[in-house]
Amino acid sequence: MTEAALQIEARPAQLYVALYDKLPHPGLGPVQEFALDIGISATAPIVLTDVVWRAFDQNDHVSFVRQRLGEEAMDELTRGQFGVAPGLGLVLPRCYFLEQGAQPLSRLRISIAGFEAATRIGVSASLDVPLVYPQQRAKIHLPFADGTWWAITGNDWSSSHKADPVSWPFAYDFVRLGPDGRSFAGNGRSNADHYSFGQPVTAPAGGKIVFVRDDMPDQAPGQPLEASAITGDSTRLAGNVVVIGHGYSEFSYLAHLQAGSVSVEEGQMVKRGQQIALVGNSGHSPGPHLHYHFQDGPSLFVDRGVPVQFYNFLAVGDLIDHATIPSRMIVSPA
Ligand SMILES: [Zn+2]
Repeated sequence: MTEAALQIEARPAQLYVALYDKLPHPGLGPVQEFALDIGISATAPIVLTDVVWRAFDQNDHVSFVRQRLGEEAMDELTRGQFGVAPGLGLVLPRCYFLEQGAQPLSRLRISIAGFEAATRIGVSASLDVPLVYPQQRAKIHLPFADGTWWAITGNDWSSSHKADPVSWPFAYDFVRLGPDGRSFAGNGRSNADHYSFGQPVTAPAGGKIVFVRDDMPDQAPGQPLEASAITGDSTRLAGNVVVIGHGYSEFSYLAHLQAGSVSVEEGQMVKRGQQIALVGNSGHSPGPHLHYHFQDGPSLFVDRGVPVQFYNFLAVGDLIDHATIPSRMIVSPA
């Protein structure tokens, strides 16, 4: 009798780590984050019992351990599907790590264990996933000319961006705040109530426009996008979009732009600070805001999202030379 083979796959296969070491997290200090989906397959029906994650630092010492053991934990982790059937596989979605400390990590070891359903013979497997700190070349600035903006997502597990660990785990949604510190006046039911709506969006760094979409209408706040709007092209979730290539495989992705506001064309060169569009509410968007993320290629859902450092902005009363902006930080262009 041969033991059933268990196999683990990580998506993505190599993980970018975002380091938040320059701006304060209340009560936390420096933190770093990464996210992935884990796929498990087997040659015979398997019941999973343990998942253990160990992160190693650059001296190959274990920096932290997380474990989930037993049937209840598996049930929760795998949404009740903790048996692995041959040919079907199992996904542990959205495995998210937000860890204290700025000490650089080198790899994440994923170990799983369980038993073969028919024979109850123990089986296990492990996988090492490299952890990478990208070296950013472009000096990215906030994509606005002025105003006070709230970065409502970032290192926030509850953000829907974390549901896709490939494309936009490190994305930001920026909302403009009014003089009253709120994001809208009145009851917020119309786009015009929102301080973000119609604000100029500027190129965060110089580069070439590599993609433009500008044929989608603005939604009313809270109005769900009809399924037909994204049929055949799920990237239409992002609404009207401008993608700028900065060189060295660095791209800015700006989304949910206002209908009819995109003022650049594919192939055009832009300078930092040049207006490219207005903030809108197109695509799958709960209300007017600007979605921004940095990626290592031009294509959404194909290329990888990358953590981004912004240069020369104001936060917590200070001029920040460059930093990755944590969730819920209020920032302004310098
Ligand atoms: Zn977003």
